[in-house]
Amino acid sequence: MISDDERFRVFMEAAGCIPGGVPEEIRKTAAADHVPVIRRSTQDLLRVILAAKKPETVLEVGTAVGFSAVYICSCSGASVVTIENNGERIRTARKNFEKAGMSDRIRLIEGDAEQVLPGLKGPFDLIFLDAAKGQYIAYLPDVLRLLAPGGILLADNVLQEGEILDSRYAVDRRNRTIHRRIREFIRAVSVHPDLETAVLPLGDGLSVSVKKTGNRPV
Ligand code: SAM
Repeated sequence: MISDDERFRVFMEAAGCIPGGVPEEIRKTAAADHVPVIRRSTQDLLRVILAAKKPETVLEVGTAVGFSAVYICSCSGASVVTIENNGERIRTARKNFEKAGMSDRIRLIEGDAEQVLPGLKGPFDLIFLDAAKGQYIAYLPDVLRLLAPGGILLADNVLQEGEILDSRYAVDRRNRTIHRRIREFIRAVSVHPDLETAVLPLGDGLSVSVKKTGNRPV
C-alpha cells in the first residue's frame, strides 16, 4: 500500500490535485490536533465517485471534526447527515460547518451510531462508514435498508494497514476481535446478492459497493 505521506502531498500539490479552501484548513488543524481524517488518496477517490454518482443525500458514520462532510459538500450538491459520539469533536465539527458556510447542508446527529442508525429514514444515495471499524458488520442491516437502489456504500480502514491480510496469530491479541469483525464485514459485502463490491488497497483499505437495482446488474 502507498502511504499518504508528505512526499505524496508535495507531489499532488505540485500536480494541482490538492484544492485549498476551508477543507484544507480543517485537514491541517485536525492533523495538528491528532484527529484522524480520510487520507488524501481516499479523498481523491471520494471526489471522483461524487462526480460520477452526483448524490443528493449522503449518510456518514464518523464525523470527527467534519473534514469529510465539508469536503463532500464542497465537491457535490449533496446534503449530508453525519453521526459522531465524541463531544469535543462534535463542537469543533459544528464550528467547522459554520466556517465553511455549510451548516444548512450538514445535519450532525450526536450519539452512538449503533443506536442512531435504526431510527434513521432513507434513502441515501451514498453511505460512508468511517467510525468504529469493528462495528461495521453490526451496522450493515441498517445500512442496506437506508441505501437507495443504485446507491454506493464506502467503508474506510477495512485493511488496517494491511494487518487484515495477516494470520490472526500475527495480530495483537487485543486487535483480534476487531479484525475478525472486519473480515466478517468484508465477506458480507463481497458475497451479498444485492451488492457489487470491490475492496481496494487504497489508503488504509476502502471497500466500495454498489446496491444493485432489481435483478439487473447496475
Ligand atoms: N470521516 C472523518 C473525516 O474524514 O473527516 C473522520 C472520522 S474518524 C476516522 C472516526 C470518528 O468516528 C471519530 O471521531 C470517532 O469519535 C467516531 N466514532 C467512533 N465510534 C463511533 C460510534 N460508535 N458512533 C459514532 N461515532 C463514532
